[in-house]
Amino acid sequence: MVKLPIYMDNHATTPLDPRVLDAMMPYLTSKFGNAASRNHGFGWEAEEAVDKARGQIATLINAKPKEIIFTSGATESDNLAIKGVVEFYKEKGNHVITCVTEHKAVIDSCKALERTGKATVTYLPVDKHGMVDPEDLRNAITDKTVLITIMFANNEIGTLHPVVEIGKIAKEKGVIFHCDATQAVGHVPVDVERCGIDLLSLTAHKLYGPKGAGALYVRSRAPRVRLTPIIDGGGHERGMRSGTLNVPGIVGLGAACEIAGKEMAEEMARLTDLRHRLQAGVFERLDDVILNGHPTERLPGNLNLSFAYVEGESLLMGISDIAVSSGSACTSATLEPSYVIRALGTDDELAHSSIRFGLGRFNTGEEVDYVAERVAKEVVRLREMSPLYEMAKEGIDLKSVEWRRE
Ligand SMILES: *Cc1c(COP(=O)(O)O)cnc(C)c1O
Repeated sequence: MVKLPIYMDNHATTPLDPRVLDAMMPYLTSKFGNAASRNHGFGWEAEEAVDKARGQIATLINAKPKEIIFTSGATESDNLAIKGVVEFYKEKGNHVITCVTEHKAVIDSCKALERTGKATVTYLPVDKHGMVDPEDLRNAITDKTVLITIMFANNEIGTLHPVVEIGKIAKEKGVIFHCDATQAVGHVPVDVERCGIDLLSLTAHKLYGPKGAGALYVRSRAPRVRLTPIIDGGGHERGMRSGTLNVPGIVGLGAACEIAGKEMAEEMARLTDLRHRLQAGVFERLDDVILNGHPTERLPGNLNLSFAYVEGESLLMGISDIAVSSGSACTSATLEPSYVIRALGTDDELAHSSIRFGLGRFNTGEEVDYVAERVAKEVVRLREMSPLYEMAKEGIDLKSVEWRRE
């Protein structure tokens, strides 16, 4: 029998890999030094561990160790990249280009810049699979554009943007390219050289590391990217991010990156198989299920489905021994349908009925089979109670029905 509850929400966060915890443990206990203490062994030991982690992270994304700036996570990295560039290059221009399906950390950083009058922002649309069109990007660039910020992989629908092409256009036009690669790093190959990325956000807890540890990659040459810090203080991290380093968190991030690099090829293949198995298991049991996101250009572990005539929230309640998400974790506190699903051109009904399955390192085939069956059963049960489903099955076009409030 499969062990319950089942965790299948790996885009919200991932469990800590026991090997990562092992690497961190000494730095949570005896090796507690401050990496900035230059006068004794405790400090040197901590600094050495931080340097090792810098190397491990740099290797995974094909960067140089000195280009890695430690932060508290991807939200901070996104804020630092976007606000830091706009402030530093304000003499050069004030225009930012992003995309409608970005994470809130990017969207709200852009909104904050608009509100304070520091930038004007273009929000590029996406196609029905959630991809930006590089030509739209090219056309949006003006002589005032200082930053393009487009994510690597979407956290709700898993769609991979054409990052190589975006990087090429950015280079050609001499605009800095920031990429929130939080969902991609450790899951699919990410290479800042090949993709022409100048700034890249990542966080440990999305790749089996601890929460509260992240990094921003900042390109050091061709071009050298400059940033105005958003946190002032002791001048840590080459002045870009002051504050005593979270040594155990950083060690965990480094270890997580090393493991991910070694196991990526195998894990991608395994998760792709599991995703196909889950999708097939659902589709063979149910009709009126829609795949959200790109059919092939997507994260191996991401499956996002809309179950017509069923409220995502009701479905979640009916399968409470399975941890999945409706909408994104960050917006599920409100009952607004997901802005990401809506950006695909999906109507509100279907956006409300979407569920995100996030498969990860510790999920098994047995779990996938259980989830497919359990979800299908619950959808059937909910549809049996749904007058809308009944009407649709009788051939009534729901769009033609005139609803009246009694
Ligand atoms: C999770 C996530 C973030 C936020 O990362 P934190 O480390 O939790 O702040 C930012 N962007 C994307 C795409 C994410 O998935």
